[in-house]
Amino acid sequence: DLTVEVRVTPLSVAGGRGAALAFEDRSSLERAEQMRRDFVANVSHELRTPLTALMGFIETLRGPAKNDANARDRFLGIMEREAGRMNRLVGDLLSLSRVEAEERRRPVQSVELTGLLRNVIAALRPTADAAGVTIELAPPDEPVTVAGDADQLVQVFDNLIENAVKYGGRDASVHLGFAYLEHEPVLRGPAWAITVADQGEGIAPEHLPRLTERFYRVDTHRSREQGGTGLGLAIVKHIVNRHRGRLKIESEKGKGSRFIVILPDQIGKS
Ligand code: ADP
Repeated sequence: DLTVEVRVTPLSVAGGRGAALAFEDRSSLERAEQMRRDFVANVSHELRTPLTALMGFIETLRGPAKNDANARDRFLGIMEREAGRMNRLVGDLLSLSRVEAEERRRPVQSVELTGLLRNVIAALRPTADAAGVTIELAPPDEPVTVAGDADQLVQVFDNLIENAVKYGGRDASVHLGFAYLEHEPVLRGPAWAITVADQGEGIAPEHLPRLTERFYRVDTHRSREQGGTGLGLAIVKHIVNRHRGRLKIESEKGKGSRFIVILPDQIGKS
């Protein structure tokens, strides 16, 4: 729907009288404003949930559970988890705003992705081990070098691999694959495609287009249970955009999902 604002300014032109009409499309402004309002409402809600829990437990520890050492330990554990949740949310919000602010500036470091992925996998090893998940990396023989921002690319693959571990099911495996594309049709040039594939429950097609929206989750309760903020894929999307790349998501219910990061090849581009 289109909202057009019309402004009328009376004019006197060469002795006669007239009016200037200005037309402005308000719909995109209003949409942006609505999105901003929704975002603030979502952030407030996401922060209030753990905060309410914390306040409740503080009250209980002051009152009924005052002299109960068992209850105190259990409640402190829950409080620690809730504080951790708030900490992750604030961290992701800061990442998102930093990435958004930099989105127009194209990153220029030369980044080798095989080594970067090995580091990300090593850092995620304890999480993967706890879920009984193995992470398989199938790197090509040659180095995979792109123009990028190393810290941000770490964030991209950290988020995607952590999701694959979280939503990939117990005792499953996560597979990381590389493909060189001579001519990527949308980027119109050579590119590297890095795929993070899991064998989890998959994502129904109606959710796919909205997955990278901030706070969009297929199952909010489940995401929260697993410590998710709902911001990971929004951050991934912004970083990939900043690299002038593409994020493709393919999924089949019951079979698993593939998140494909396509980044322009440095050599071909320069
Ligand atoms: P969250 O912190 O909730 O994981 P993300 O932005 O990383 O937030 O992901 C958004 C939602 O996309 C998740 O809540 C989940 O429903 C879905 N999702 C992400 N990755 C996968 C995956 N590998 N398999 C199934 N669902 C996924």
